[in-house]
Amino acid sequence: MSRTLVLNRSFRAVAVADWQRALTLVYMGLAEALDEALTPYDFPAWVAASSNWVEAPAGFVRSPNLRFAVPEVIRLVRYDRVPHREVAFTRHNVFARDGRRCAYCGRRKPTEELDLDHVIPRSRGGPHAWTNVVASCRPCNLKKADKLPEEAGMPLKVRPVKPRWTLLGSLIPHPRTDIPASWKKLLDLADA
Ligand SMILES: [Zn+2]
Repeated sequence: MSRTLVLNRSFRAVAVADWQRALTLVYMGLAEALDEALTPYDFPAWVAASSNWVEAPAGFVRSPNLRFAVPEVIRLVRYDRVPHREVAFTRHNVFARDGRRCAYCGRRKPTEELDLDHVIPRSRGGPHAWTNVVASCRPCNLKKADKLPEEAGMPLKVRPVKPRWTLLGSLIPHPRTDIPASWKKLLDLADA
Protein backbone atom coordinates (compact mmCIF):
# COMPACT_ATOMS: atom_id res chain seq x y z
CA MET A 1 0.00 0.00 0.00
CA SER A 2 1.20 3.52 0.70
CA ARG A 3 4.48 4.95 1.74
CA THR A 4 4.83 7.87 4.09
CA LEU A 5 7.42 10.59 3.89
CA VAL A 6 9.26 11.07 7.18
CA LEU A 7 10.52 14.53 8.13
CA ASN A 8 12.81 15.37 11.00
CA ARG A 9 12.07 18.11 13.49
CA SER A 10 13.43 20.71 11.09
CA PHE A 11 11.03 19.54 8.37
CA ARG A 12 13.77 17.92 6.31
CA ALA A 13 12.84 14.72 4.53
CA VAL A 14 14.91 11.94 6.09
CA ALA A 15 13.21 8.72 5.05
CA VAL A 16 10.33 6.94 3.46
CA ALA A 17 8.50 4.49 5.69
CA ASP A 18 5.81 2.00 4.95
CA TRP A 19 2.48 3.19 6.29
CA GLN A 20 2.35 0.70 9.17
CA ARG A 21 5.67 1.91 10.50
CA ALA A 22 4.64 5.53 10.03
CA LEU A 23 1.42 5.01 11.97
CA THR A 24 3.28 3.14 14.68
CA LEU A 25 5.65 6.09 15.14
CA VAL A 26 2.67 8.43 15.48
CA TYR A 27 0.84 6.03 17.78
CA MET A 28 3.91 5.81 20.02
CA GLY A 29 4.17 9.58 20.19
CA LEU A 30 7.54 9.62 18.38
CA ALA A 31 6.10 11.45 15.39
CA GLU A 32 3.15 13.62 14.50
CA ALA A 33 0.99 13.21 11.42
CA LEU A 34 0.87 16.21 9.09
CA ASP A 35 -2.01 17.13 6.82
CA GLU A 36 -1.60 18.89 3.49
CA ALA A 37 -1.25 22.26 5.23
CA LEU A 38 1.45 20.69 7.46
CA THR A 39 -0.79 21.04 10.50
CA PRO A 40 0.46 18.59 13.13
CA TYR A 41 -1.72 16.00 14.85
CA ASP A 42 -1.02 13.48 17.57
CA PHE A 43 -2.57 10.05 17.11
CA PRO A 44 -6.00 10.63 18.72
CA ALA A 45 -6.36 14.02 17.00
CA TRP A 46 -5.37 12.49 13.65
CA VAL A 47 -7.91 9.70 13.99
CA ALA A 48 -10.62 12.16 14.99
CA ALA A 49 -9.84 14.63 12.20
CA SER A 50 -9.25 12.23 9.32
CA SER A 51 -12.21 9.98 10.11
CA ASN A 52 -14.41 12.70 8.64
CA TRP A 53 -12.46 13.03 5.41
CA VAL A 54 -14.20 11.95 2.26
CA GLU A 55 -10.97 10.98 0.59
CA ALA A 56 -7.34 10.58 1.54
CA PRO A 57 -4.53 10.42 -1.05
CA ALA A 58 -2.74 7.61 0.80
CA GLY A 59 -5.94 5.72 1.58
CA PHE A 60 -7.70 4.79 4.79
CA VAL A 61 -7.07 2.31 7.53
CA ARG A 62 -10.34 0.52 8.16
CA SER A 63 -11.49 -1.58 11.03
CA PRO A 64 -15.07 -2.62 11.82
CA ASN A 65 -15.78 0.53 13.83
CA LEU A 66 -13.05 2.92 12.79
CA ARG A 67 -11.78 4.51 9.63
CA PHE A 68 -8.98 7.03 9.45
CA ALA A 69 -6.46 8.26 6.91
CA VAL A 70 -2.94 6.98 6.35
CA PRO A 71 -0.71 10.05 6.78
CA GLU A 72 1.29 10.90 3.66
CA VAL A 73 3.77 12.86 5.71
CA ILE A 74 4.87 12.57 9.33
CA ARG A 75 7.37 14.55 11.36
CA LEU A 76 9.62 13.05 14.00
CA VAL A 77 9.30 14.97 17.21
CA ARG A 78 12.04 13.36 19.29
CA TYR A 79 14.76 12.39 16.88
CA ASP A 80 16.45 14.05 13.98
CA ARG A 81 17.12 10.70 12.40
CA VAL A 82 14.96 7.74 11.78
CA PRO A 83 15.96 4.98 14.15
CA HIS A 84 18.70 3.09 12.29
CA ARG A 85 17.48 0.60 9.79
CA GLU A 86 19.49 -2.17 8.18
CA VAL A 87 18.78 -3.43 4.71
CA ALA A 88 17.99 -7.13 5.09
CA PHE A 89 20.40 -9.43 3.25
CA THR A 90 17.93 -11.31 1.08
CA ARG A 91 17.80 -12.63 -2.45
CA HIS A 92 15.25 -10.01 -3.37
CA ASN A 93 17.38 -7.15 -2.00
CA VAL A 94 20.56 -8.38 -3.72
CA PHE A 95 18.69 -8.41 -7.04
CA ALA A 96 17.32 -4.93 -6.27
CA ARG A 97 20.82 -3.64 -5.42
CA ASP A 98 22.19 -5.02 -8.69
CA GLY A 99 19.29 -3.63 -10.71
CA ARG A 100 18.39 -7.19 -11.75
CA ARG A 101 21.50 -7.24 -13.96
CA CYS A 102 23.95 -10.09 -14.12
CA ALA A 103 27.18 -8.94 -12.47
CA TYR A 104 29.24 -10.77 -15.14
CA CYS A 105 27.60 -10.12 -18.51
CA GLY A 106 25.55 -7.08 -17.49
CA ARG A 107 22.31 -8.38 -19.01
CA ARG A 108 19.09 -7.45 -17.32
CA LYS A 109 16.91 -10.45 -16.52
CA PRO A 110 13.62 -11.23 -14.87
CA THR A 111 14.10 -12.30 -11.26
CA GLU A 112 13.20 -15.89 -12.08
CA GLU A 113 16.19 -16.09 -14.42
CA LEU A 114 18.72 -14.82 -11.89
CA ASP A 115 20.71 -16.69 -9.30
CA LEU A 116 22.83 -15.54 -6.42
CA ASP A 117 26.51 -16.05 -7.12
CA HIS A 118 29.28 -16.09 -4.53
CA VAL A 119 32.15 -14.13 -6.07
CA ILE A 120 34.63 -16.10 -3.98
CA PRO A 121 32.92 -19.50 -4.01
CA ARG A 122 31.67 -20.80 -0.70
CA SER A 123 33.74 -23.95 -1.26
CA ARG A 124 36.80 -21.67 -1.09
CA GLY A 125 35.77 -19.84 2.03
CA GLY A 126 33.81 -16.99 0.46
CA PRO A 127 31.30 -15.53 2.92
CA HIS A 128 27.55 -15.41 2.35
CA ALA A 129 27.45 -11.62 2.68
CA TRP A 130 26.59 -8.48 0.76
CA THR A 131 30.21 -7.95 -0.31
CA ASN A 132 30.60 -11.44 -1.78
CA VAL A 133 27.22 -12.07 -3.35
CA VAL A 134 25.97 -10.77 -6.70
CA ALA A 135 23.11 -11.37 -9.11
CA SER A 136 24.09 -13.68 -11.93
CA CYS A 137 22.25 -15.06 -14.93
CA ARG A 138 22.09 -18.86 -15.20
CA PRO A 139 24.57 -19.21 -18.09
CA CYS A 140 27.18 -17.04 -16.34
CA ASN A 141 26.58 -18.82 -13.05
CA LEU A 142 27.16 -22.20 -14.70
CA LYS A 143 30.20 -21.00 -16.58
CA LYS A 144 31.83 -19.48 -13.51
CA ALA A 145 31.10 -22.52 -11.34
CA ASP A 146 33.63 -22.86 -8.51
CA LYS A 147 36.15 -20.44 -9.94
CA LEU A 148 37.23 -16.97 -8.95
CA PRO A 149 36.23 -14.27 -11.49
CA GLU A 150 39.89 -13.98 -12.61
CA GLU A 151 40.23 -17.72 -13.09
CA ALA A 152 37.00 -17.87 -15.09
CA GLY A 153 37.96 -14.82 -17.15
CA MET A 154 34.75 -13.18 -16.02
CA PRO A 155 35.53 -9.85 -14.37
CA LEU A 156 32.81 -8.32 -12.22
CA LYS A 157 31.00 -5.36 -13.74
CA VAL A 158 29.96 -4.12 -10.31
CA ARG A 159 31.59 -3.95 -6.92
CA PRO A 160 29.27 -5.61 -4.44
CA VAL A 161 28.66 -3.39 -1.43
CA LYS A 162 26.29 -3.41 1.49
CA PRO A 163 23.56 -0.93 0.57
CA ARG A 164 22.44 1.77 2.93
CA TRP A 165 18.78 2.38 3.43
CA THR A 166 18.35 5.99 2.43
CA LEU A 167 15.59 8.24 1.29
CA LEU A 168 17.12 8.33 -2.15
CA GLY A 169 17.67 4.61 -2.32
CA SER A 170 14.12 3.88 -1.42
CA LEU A 171 12.81 6.29 -4.03
CA ILE A 172 15.01 5.30 -6.93
CA PRO A 173 13.01 2.24 -8.03
CA HIS A 174 9.94 4.40 -8.50
CA PRO A 175 9.52 6.81 -11.37
CA ARG A 176 9.55 10.42 -10.31
CA THR A 177 5.87 10.67 -11.22
CA ASP A 178 5.13 8.07 -8.59
CA ILE A 179 5.99 10.55 -5.85
CA PRO A 180 2.84 11.92 -4.22
CA ALA A 181 2.17 15.58 -4.93
CA SER A 182 2.24 16.39 -1.22
CA TRP A 183 5.84 15.19 -1.01
CA LYS A 184 7.20 17.22 -3.88
CA LYS A 185 7.63 20.58 -2.20
CA LEU A 186 9.08 18.87 0.85
CA LEU A 187 11.60 16.96 -1.26
CA ASP A 188 12.54 20.12 -3.07
CA LEU A 189 13.16 21.70 0.30
CA ALA A 190 15.30 18.74 1.25
CA ASP A 191 17.33 19.03 -1.95
CA ALA A 192 17.93 22.75 -1.44
ZN1 LIG B 1 25.34 -13.24 -17.19
